[in-house]
Amino acid sequence: MIAKTLKLHQFRNVSDAEISFSEGVNVLYGDNAEGKTNLLEALYYASIGKSFRGQHVNELVRFGTNEAQISLDYNSCGRDQNIKIQFFDGRVRTVEKNRVKIPRMSELVGSFKAVLFCPEHLSLIKDGPAERRQFLDIAISALEPAYLAALQRYNRILKQRNTLLKSAEKNPADFKDTVDIWSQQLAREGAYIAKSRERYVKRASFYVEECFADMTGTREKPSLVYHGCGGKELDTYGDVQKTEVVLYKRLSENHEREIGAGATLYGIHKDDVEVYLNERAARIYCSQGQQRSLALALKIAEAELCREDCGEYPVLLFDDVLSELDENRRNYLLQKIKGKQVILTTCEKEEFLATHRIFVKGGIYQAETE
Ligand code: ATP
Ligand code: MG
Repeated sequence: MIAKTLKLHQFRNVSDAEISFSEGVNVLYGDNAEGKTNLLEALYYASIGKSFRGQHVNELVRFGTNEAQISLDYNSCGRDQNIKIQFFDGRVRTVEKNRVKIPRMSELVGSFKAVLFCPEHLSLIKDGPAERRQFLDIAISALEPAYLAALQRYNRILKQRNTLLKSAEKNPADFKDTVDIWSQQLAREGAYIAKSRERYVKRASFYVEECFADMTGTREKPSLVYHGCGGKELDTYGDVQKTEVVLYKRLSENHEREIGAGATLYGIHKDDVEVYLNERAARIYCSQGQQRSLALALKIAEAELCREDCGEYPVLLFDDVLSELDENRRNYLLQKIKGKQVILTTCEKEEFLATHRIFVKGGIYQAETE
């Protein structure tokens, strides 16, 4: 996967820009608040169909205007492609792939493959399960379009079922009539999602272990354990049909508790992936440095699995990452990125083996001539 040219119009602090990238290491350098992360945000938006910062489209549109545009030329497996996203009045107006409109943003996901590394990824290890679920959802959606569709259906059903649970005391007859339909559907979608997540975690484990050993040179052994559907006791649920049966059983046997809570208490929205180092929970016992290495290893695993499934590496986007690393980890990463396209941001001008440097000031991107 190669990002070739990005065109931005009224995006964040950029009025109009056309930025070309080389196939190696592209370094965006400049002072704070000039527009380095904004560019990575636009690239990653074209990859996952949303921002890794704010939730609202309004924030992406340049102050004082109400429309913006991202257009990306990229090459995937030898074929030139284009993605164009237009924002208007606080929402996405149109999404086009190769000049053809596509009805839903979700159909774009997985076209331009990129993996983002940023300092906030430490939260993958430190914070609660929601961060890790989101990591899995983004990573798997890029590889498996059916996964994203199932996830969207699951979330819709979950919302409906939660509304039903909240009104159950007022409308018991209504509840009795419909709850089972929602439970069945939730179990079906949930089982598929759970199995995909379980498979992904197993595959990622291999790379996390390998990266961690290479990077830190220690004998400490990381492991990832998937806890499905809100409880360790449900881990061994077997194949997808068996998982569906187990989940459905949970959902039909606990109505009273769920009505009390006013929410669905079982399902993949409660999943977690526990990260361990030498069988101890990394979240609790690891040092900051160990946590950083684990987070980095998880992202490298994401890139490796993308390469396994798609036959080429995704574009690697590094936001302020290298300056945070100690020498060992930095060297490891620099050796790891050889031969891949990297687009990275930094405040320092003198930074390692750039093949292409772009100076960023006030939303203007100036390529440095050699
Ligand atoms: P740092 O080195 O501090 O991370 P950066 O170069 O990565 O800086 P960006 O995050 O890209 O900086 O942001 C650059 C500027 O964009 C900021 O000054 C911010 O206020 C501005 N900005 C953010 N959203 C908008 C918007 N919608 N319209 C105009 N400017 C915006
Ligand atoms: Mg930044």
